[in-house]
Amino acid sequence: MSVSDHVDLEQFMVGVEKRNPGETEFIQAVREVSEDVFEYIADKEKYHQHQILRRIAEPDRIVSFRVCWEDDNGNIRVQRGYRVQNNNAIGPYKGGLRFHQSVNQSILKFLAFEQTFKNSLTGLPMGGGKGGSNFNPKGKSDNEIMRFCQSFMTELYRHVGEDTDVPAGDIGVGAREIGYMFGQYKRITNRFTGVLTGKGLEYGGSLVRTEATGYGAVYFMQNMLETQGDSIEGKTAVISGSGNVATHAAEKVVQLGGKVLTLSDSKGYLHDPAGMDQDKIDWIKNQKGVVRGSLADYTAAFAGSSWHEGETPWGVACDIALPCATQNEMDQAGAELLVANGCIAVSEGANMPVNLDGVKVFKAAGILYAPGKASNAGGVAVSGLEMSQNSGRVSWSEEQLQDHLRSIMKEIHDTCATYGAGRLPNGGCDYVKGANIAGFVKVADAMLAFGVV
Ligand code: NDP
Repeated sequence: MSVSDHVDLEQFMVGVEKRNPGETEFIQAVREVSEDVFEYIADKEKYHQHQILRRIAEPDRIVSFRVCWEDDNGNIRVQRGYRVQNNNAIGPYKGGLRFHQSVNQSILKFLAFEQTFKNSLTGLPMGGGKGGSNFNPKGKSDNEIMRFCQSFMTELYRHVGEDTDVPAGDIGVGAREIGYMFGQYKRITNRFTGVLTGKGLEYGGSLVRTEATGYGAVYFMQNMLETQGDSIEGKTAVISGSGNVATHAAEKVVQLGGKVLTLSDSKGYLHDPAGMDQDKIDWIKNQKGVVRGSLADYTAAFAGSSWHEGETPWGVACDIALPCATQNEMDQAGAELLVANGCIAVSEGANMPVNLDGVKVFKAAGILYAPGKASNAGGVAVSGLEMSQNSGRVSWSEEQLQDHLRSIMKEIHDTCATYGAGRLPNGGCDYVKGANIAGFVKVADAMLAFGVV
């Protein structure tokens, strides 16, 4: 068969849609990657012959299970748990666990698929996976969270392990949940191993892991700006979300001399024209992470700020934007508003926060635009370093880890630029294309080495 005999992108996507009915997020993620990979492999027979993309877009394994737990009123509650192990060609499956009422198989398949490319880009030996549950942690007591986490791990422990699959946190899963799950894993297996990352520092966690995703997304932004002889200093920033990624992105923007105008949550956004300094960011971290109260209360604490119920922050004029909340939080209209208001660069802290039409707007405008699989890879990169420290039974210093994070983000930036330079209509760097192709090549070449398995 010659290359010209192979299916084209649209035929390929018809097959993906047929095999994954109704899984819109997964289909969206596969299309976004496939557009670039098809172009790259057009004249590369080996990838066609071995059906590499078709195989990466079919998870190695999906485990789905019942999670029963008892609430504080004695009611028996039933949730669904999942682990999607997408691809382990270059290392053990690795990727977060998400606890959110929206979780379903499509969302976890999209995240596990994206994770495969992201982990490849870090240069570390990690395959791609993702998991979670439709459990909603909001409003639950600590004891309810603990009972849920223990029940979840009572099934998950069979499928994970330090050399098999190493989950971490994601939306709704932070230090508290990781602690409960690690405790249950250790209790069931009687083994103290690096089976999870994002652990507490007292029991095998790594310094800088908590900050790594948000900080990394800002380092990526800085790297993009530097290609234009520019920097974050003096820039106004619009950031969405107010969780782990968003608050640490805000912190790093402030440290580098930028001004953070907004943060948000699922209820609306905060606008603070004076800028959010470290004290204000600490207030938000406490309000969302400890008090678990309303973000809108910020306006009572800090004069001059305003709360915009039910709205997204994309209409606020800014120089740079970092979407750090969730998938598809920005559509075409949001992207158009940013560009029209003079935004020159976007770095994604969240996974797939900009939908396909929004991405087209950024590409057509020729602004600097980094896809999450490259720009938010700092978190999983430091998770990879946590795995290394656990294997060697050592702990590295804060300074060492900060240096590692900065240099890994620079390497990811440069790798994307290798494949994406000059590929935008205006001659700029297409970081999406660069990330998709670079992420694909390493995984694909490993798969070729294994033959048909
Ligand atoms: P958190 O749970 O700490 O925070 C999530 C934030 O997003 C909250 O502010 C939440 O608001 C908001 N949010 C959730 N759903 C929606 C929605 N439908 N519309 C608007 N806002 C919403 O999660 P993280 O900060 O860890 O994760 C954020 C994103 O970053 C996710 O896409 C995740 O996959 C990605 N990511 C995270 C990594 C990590 O290391 N944690 C690593 C790489 C990527 P509310 O409080 O109201 O629910």
